[in-house]
Amino acid sequence: MGPILKIEKVAFRYVSEWVLDGIDLEVNRGEVVGILGPNGSGKSTLLRVIEGLCEPERGNVFVKGTDISKLSRVSLSREVAMVQQENHFSFSFSVLEVVLMGRFPYLGNFQFEGEEDIEVARKAMTATSTLSLSGRLINELSGGEKQRVLLARALTQEPSIILLDEPTAFLDLSYKKEIFDLISSLSRQTGVSALIVTHDIDLAARYCNRLLMLRDGRLHASGLPVEVLNAANIEAIFGCKVIVDINPVSGSPRVSLI
Ligand code: ADP
Ligand code: MG
Repeated sequence: MGPILKIEKVAFRYVSEWVLDGIDLEVNRGEVVGILGPNGSGKSTLLRVIEGLCEPERGNVFVKGTDISKLSRVSLSREVAMVQQENHFSFSFSVLEVVLMGRFPYLGNFQFEGEEDIEVARKAMTATSTLSLSGRLINELSGGEKQRVLLARALTQEPSIILLDEPTAFLDLSYKKEIFDLISSLSRQTGVSALIVTHDIDLAARYCNRLLMLRDGRLHASGLPVEVLNAANIEAIFGCKVIVDINPVSGSPRVSLI
């Protein structure tokens, strides 16, 4: 089988300046790929391009071999799901209602969820340990619980790939680890791929199969975490001096500020 996601020479700009330029990327089934880069380097824009919200001016994005510019929004939503950094719901939906929103690409206008949809949601909630929260209100959950629910909603879309934009930004260390653990085990168990924008470099090093580094909308480096995470690359993209050694327990690269 070919890659789930393939990006070829993508360039995009909102106004006059290129925000993405010459981006190439492939993500295979079940792979967890991390995107690192400073603020403003184009990470969220890249996810928006893959979601079909920003149309590249040059280059192409293929999902399971189909150019996404030829797919309807609904068809694309059956393949690509998004978990945002932070979600404020203006109306206080129940957790079950939020998770069931993930079925939108499968329901017609004014069609209510059927038993099959509820079963898909139930499975996603079991996988993310959110079933016991189903009657709670989304706005009353802790940050970690909320992110698990949003992951359940994404799974309910039954996508081939989940895009996550800084999903652990507002979580404490144990919740950050929990989210990365969850994504990693879901990808192994279900074959879903994940593309994660994150500033948690050590967690990305440990949980991602591959990493990309973006700088000013261009790929600065890509490869295995051990190949990409070195002091020169980190200094080049973040502009600060670091030491990179190996975590003696996990064996993955560890980045410390000097
Ligand atoms: P990152 O997620 O890496 O912080 P973004 O993709 O959000 O970066 O932004 C990349 C660049 O595009 C920034 O210079 C930002 O100001 C600009 N940008 C982002 N969104 C818009 C928009 N809707 N309109 C115009 N410029 C934007
Ligand atoms: Mg961003």
